[in-house]
Amino acid sequence: MSEKNKVEADDSSSASRLRISEIFYSLQGESRSSGYATVFIRLTGCPLRCDYCDTTYAFKGGEWKSLDDIIAEVKKYNTKYITVTGGEPLAQKKCIDLLNLLCDEGYDVSLETSGALDISKVDVRVSRVMDLKTPASKEESKNYYNNIELLTSHDQLKFVICDRNDYEWAVEKIKKYDLLSRCEVLFSTSHQQLKPQVLADWILEDQLAVRFQMQLHKYLWNDEPGR
Ligand code: SF4
Repeated sequence: MSEKNKVEADDSSSASRLRISEIFYSLQGESRSSGYATVFIRLTGCPLRCDYCDTTYAFKGGEWKSLDDIIAEVKKYNTKYITVTGGEPLAQKKCIDLLNLLCDEGYDVSLETSGALDISKVDVRVSRVMDLKTPASKEESKNYYNNIELLTSHDQLKFVICDRNDYEWAVEKIKKYDLLSRCEVLFSTSHQQLKPQVLADWILEDQLAVRFQMQLHKYLWNDEPGR
C-alpha cells in the first residue's frame, strides 16, 4: 500500500484523529504573514515526491492525536497565527475538520498545500497557500488546475523556482490563468538551487507584480526541523 493510501486508510478507521509529524512554535518564514510568531501543525504523509523537498521526514511516522489534543497544544502558545502544513495536509481527510475547528477558535489560519489535491472543501476563512509545481520539481503532472478558479484575494499561490525554465513556465501560467487578478502570487527560490538575487533581478527586469520572498527560517536556522 502506498504511503498516501496507508494514511487515508488509517484515517478512516479513526474518529477524529490526525497523524501528526510535529507541532512547533516559530516565526513564519514565508507567505503574507512572514515574520509573525506562528504555531505550525505538520501532518504526516504526502503523495508527491518533489525533487527539492525539505520535509521528507514527514512522509512517514508521526503520532496519532485527537483534534481536541491538537487544539489544547496549540493553545499553549501566545499567537493568533496557525499554519497547517505537511507533507500534504489534505491527504488526511480529517484535516478539513481541524481547519474548521481552528477557525471557530478564532485563529488566523493558513494551509500550505501542494496544489495536487482538491481544495474545495477547505473552510473559506482559511488562507490557502497553494503551490503550482514547476517542471524542475518533477511533480508538474500532479497539479490539479481546477483549484485555480477557487482562489480568492484571501489566498496565495506559490511558485518555487529552481531555474530559468521554471521562471518562464511560471510567467506563462500567470498569463494563461490571469493569476494576478485572482490572488497574491508568491515567487521564491528553491534553496541552494537558485540564488535569490538572480530571481529578484528577473522579476524587476520583467516588472512582474508578484511578491518575491525568501524563506526566512532557512536564513535564521538553516534547515533545522521544528524551527
Ligand atoms: S508537496 Fe511538499 S511535502 Fe510533498 S514532496 Fe513536495 S515539497 Fe515535499
